[in-house]
Amino acid sequence: MYGGRGMRAALVVAAAVTVAGGVAVARIALGGAEADRSALQAMFDACKAESAPFRDEYDSMAGCTTATATFNAGRGQAKTLVDSFSTGNVDVGDLEQIPSSPPAEHPGATTRCQVIKHFLAEYMYRAHHPGAEFEECHKAGIQGENEIRNARGQAGRANGATIDASGRVVISYDDGQTETWTLDATANITGISYGGAP
Ligand SMILES: [Zn+2]
Repeated sequence: MYGGRGMRAALVVAAAVTVAGGVAVARIALGGAEADRSALQAMFDACKAESAPFRDEYDSMAGCTTATATFNAGRGQAKTLVDSFSTGNVDVGDLEQIPSSPPAEHPGATTRCQVIKHFLAEYMYRAHHPGAEFEECHKAGIQGENEIRNARGQAGRANGATIDASGRVVISYDDGQTETWTLDATANITGISYGGAP
């Protein structure tokens, strides 16, 4: 997801993603323990129900019959902040820490569907551009998450995230909003605070 210092795993192009007829997409498959798969699928389903851009991307992936992107649902995996682009790991515990709807006092807050859309868009971009560098895929991820913000009518477009001197993730938006995620030693989100305008 976020390619900040210490978070960027080695780029490994998923062998399952192929190009057929000039158009490649990656069907979604879920691995991991049944309870974690169910939790992740429930999040996908909730996002499909609430967001047209999410539903469009998800359905285009689900309808593919030529390639598969496997997301390994789990909790607390090493070096997995929400997801790990190199392994396909998705930390449903991290996703649970991110609000499904913005808190009333922080209408511009990053939402769960926004971050899920980010990693789906990254995988889709890689499927369409085999061999693409992480940074390029990550840009597609940022564009994808901003589509969710647009659809929600949220102010501020994501600029990306950095890691501060205390090892926290700082997400910035182009209208001055900031958001800080506190992590534990294995990159699990333990708290979220908000700053900047509005
Ligand atoms: Zn990313």
